[in-house]
Amino acid sequence: MKAFDYAAPRTESQVVDLLSPQAGHTAIIAGGTDLMGLMRSMVVTPDRVVNIMEVESLRELGPDEHGAIRIGAAVHLDELLSIPYLENYPALGQALRGMNSMQLQAQGTVGGDICVQPRCWFYRSGLSSLVDAQGVIEQGDHRNHAIFGNAGPAKFVSGSRLAPALIALEAEVRLLGPQPDEQRWIPLADLYRIPRMEGQRHTTLEAGQFVTHIRLPAVDLAQGGATSGAYEVRHGEGPDYPLAAAAVKLSFSGSTIGGATISDARVVLGQVAPTPWFSEEARRALIGRVITPQIAEEAGAAAVLRATPLARNQTKVQHAKVAVKRAVLLAAGLETGGF
Ligand SMILES: Cc1cc2nc3c(=O)[nH]c(=O)nc-3n(C[C@H](O)[C@H](O)[C@H](O)COP(=O)(O)OP(=O)(O)OC[C@H]3O[C@@H](n4cnc5c(N)ncnc54)[C@H](O)[C@@H]3O)c2cc1C
Repeated sequence: MKAFDYAAPRTESQVVDLLSPQAGHTAIIAGGTDLMGLMRSMVVTPDRVVNIMEVESLRELGPDEHGAIRIGAAVHLDELLSIPYLENYPALGQALRGMNSMQLQAQGTVGGDICVQPRCWFYRSGLSSLVDAQGVIEQGDHRNHAIFGNAGPAKFVSGSRLAPALIALEAEVRLLGPQPDEQRWIPLADLYRIPRMEGQRHTTLEAGQFVTHIRLPAVDLAQGGATSGAYEVRHGEGPDYPLAAAAVKLSFSGSTIGGATISDARVVLGQVAPTPWFSEEARRALIGRVITPQIAEEAGAAAVLRATPLARNQTKVQHAKVAVKRAVLLAAGLETGGF
């Protein structure tokens, strides 16, 4: 591991002061479950590591004055799992539980999960995340690589477990920096981008900027018109990354969910593209329909219509299809038929 300076600021503005305006010079550490491994293998080599876990405001967790849920970036995943409001956001609870590792849930943070570095074993063994400029991924073992958004040099997948659910639930994130008083809220979906050239990151975060909070919109239970679900296709019970994931938020035109017609749907896939991936096709397949196993199946099929698998990751198309189908069934409160 390369030698580095270490700082543990107490306020958000101190964090910004400590972050370098030059990309790659500083790294934020939260739980460290992802960053430490990358530093140990010299994939990430910052001059300074800034620990955000002692910033009190980043541990905030609860409803604001409008009923929206504010989640500090340094909130541990198991803390989030234990809040009573989680039952209003079933997709988020299902995604959190899918992680299936008490250690990761106790140590990992919400901010660390949504900013997690690209999932790509070529990148994690020291090559660029855009390594396919040299055709390495196309010719190598790319069974876990992208089946959407992979036309350019980025073939990795976004590894975040929570982002698909949070995006389906219309979460926003608060960014602070590069100036200490420069803050803005953006839809979480806008945090991600597909890098097209060396030097571009997988998030839109600028050097000197970081995520302070996530905000989930208030759920009006009196209206009772929306629900959500998330499903991961995994190859076993453990903390490993899923093969594919999907999260779905369904809005209904009637006041009851069973037998009601879907007025809108947000379908977001995970682990299949360099960003969390919206499926407009699945959305269209759901609107105006009443959920049955057949309609869920059709939504899954629609979601993968435009998939562009590589030569050796075609099974991932089937995984993505199943993930969408079962997320829809979960959201509608129907049996998934899964094991
Ligand atoms: C066995 C094992 C299995 C894992 N499986 C998965 C998995 O399936 N899916 C998955 O996503 N991850 C997985 N991880 C990686 C990781 O544990 C989780 O993503 C975890 O939630 C990251 O949280 P953290 O607080 O430990 O992040 P850290 O390691 O502290 O940070 C992760 C990244 O986010 C950046 N970062 C952290 N907080 C912020 C912030 N507030 N603003 C801006 N940037 C920030 C860091 O600089 C770093 O690049 C796994 C790790 C292990 C060891």
